[in-house]
Amino acid sequence: MLFTVPEIHYALTPLFSALFFLYAETHYSFKGIYSRLKKPEPEIIVDAPHRLEPGHELPLLLLIKDAHTYPIQLHRVIVEKFYPEAHETQEFEIEREGIDSRFWHRLFSVSLRRDFEGVLPLDVTIQYSVNGVAKQARNDNYARTSHAPLEVVVASQALPKTAGWHFGEFHCHTSFTDDQVEFGAPLAATRQLARVMGLNFFCATDHSYDLDDDPHNYLKKDPLLRKWQALWQEVGALNADNSGFVIVPGEEVSAGNHKNRNVHFLILNNPTFLPGDGDGAERWFRTRPTASIESVLQRSNSNSAAFAAHPLISPPLLERMLVRRGKWEAPDFEHPGLHGLQIWNGSDAGFEEGKRAWINLLLNGRRIFISAGNDAHGNFNRYRQIGFPFLTMQENHHQVFGRVRTAVFVDQQLTLDSLLMAIRNGRMVVTDGPFLDLRIISHDGQTGRPGDTLSGQTLQFDCVCQSSAEFGELQSFKIYAGCFKTKEESLLRNIEAFPAPFLHKDSFVEAKLQPGYVRAELYTERDGQRFKCLTNPVWFNI
Ligand SMILES: [Zn+2]
Ligand SMILES: [Zn+2]
Repeated sequence: MLFTVPEIHYALTPLFSALFFLYAETHYSFKGIYSRLKKPEPEIIVDAPHRLEPGHELPLLLLIKDAHTYPIQLHRVIVEKFYPEAHETQEFEIEREGIDSRFWHRLFSVSLRRDFEGVLPLDVTIQYSVNGVAKQARNDNYARTSHAPLEVVVASQALPKTAGWHFGEFHCHTSFTDDQVEFGAPLAATRQLARVMGLNFFCATDHSYDLDDDPHNYLKKDPLLRKWQALWQEVGALNADNSGFVIVPGEEVSAGNHKNRNVHFLILNNPTFLPGDGDGAERWFRTRPTASIESVLQRSNSNSAAFAAHPLISPPLLERMLVRRGKWEAPDFEHPGLHGLQIWNGSDAGFEEGKRAWINLLLNGRRIFISAGNDAHGNFNRYRQIGFPFLTMQENHHQVFGRVRTAVFVDQQLTLDSLLMAIRNGRMVVTDGPFLDLRIISHDGQTGRPGDTLSGQTLQFDCVCQSSAEFGELQSFKIYAGCFKTKEESLLRNIEAFPAPFLHKDSFVEAKLQPGYVRAELYTERDGQRFKCLTNPVWFNI
């Protein structure tokens, strides 16, 4: 068969985009290849937070996509709650609401038994009709997913932390991504689901090559950058209600590394749009990076923050070959404007490699920080993705919004400015459960937390290690001292026995520290599953 170049481009675009998954968009099919997932119906998806902090009702998010092409009437939403002893049903009557917009969503507030704690499976049945024909879907209407129940951890205790710390999702995608195979959740709904998980902020970091699309046609660029403007307007309006929750406007910029391969770069709170579409697969055979890491940093203003996104995760072979994807490498971290590395990206992939690269930078005298996010693509409970090529749907529990978290220390009111200031100064720890407050007091009475610098050789350490039944008992607590002279880290403290299972306070004096830094790690375990918290460093004697 003969293809013209534009046809090849058009036909293969979803192939590339399928590599970056959000909620799966199933209406796009290869030209000439029958998509077994395609149905003459809009996509219908129910989502819920994977975890519910005490004191909140459970919000269920119902998303209906592409009803402008496939209009439906919505009749009823039925939630079945599978408590261990019995199940309960809650119905939401919708009065045959006609839905014919491109993107429709609503939050339903589900009431739970007050005394219940633990994992609650939920089945959500959506009753609707298409051209008068009654239909129903369970949890989603995809053709080849499990339709398995959603599972919500109903927590009996709040996320462990001490005063002044705020949890957040550092890397996620929202409804500002909407193309051939993927779409995310709206900002306001994302905020509501994030809040009930126990978070205080999230960074909206959609891809640069999605944020500059024409709002009505994702295959065209918009010279007016209307999506970018809309992002800032919506974030501004949501943050203005001073609800104690902050949305950080940002983007995941595709930039060129030192080998001129496309890597991802989180730029937070920079009002000027920074283009980058080398790996957006929007221009066939044109995969050269739009701008280098250096030039992206030069164009970021002083109120923004710049973090290497999932820097040491190897892109799949297909992405390396087709869209010139690469990894961050040693020379790429040298740029002085780089604040940090988002080494934790929802799973263990690339974590140890990222940690090693970070420690190497620290030992060479760099003030550089780590952060954690999930790169979640709309998935709050379960990860649904389109398999390759459009024949199966895959689901797993990786890269779920809010599962690994960055905690930021802000001891004043939490605002976009105070949060960004703390992020730029590295006042952060990363965790998927336990919490570690590393506090050090110098001989002149100054208190240092991660990101701070203290003077003097005699330092009083005051550490709090915290966990809960949800994240398991304390297993080990380690403080590492990094020495600039020997360029080595040594173990300053190693505790592996704890008198109480979930809370440990450790105070001691250290008198002979060499110029360098200290950082700490805490590990817990529950039913064979390990959880951890890593702090950023406190520097001294520099
Ligand atoms: Zn990325
Ligand atoms: Zn991402």
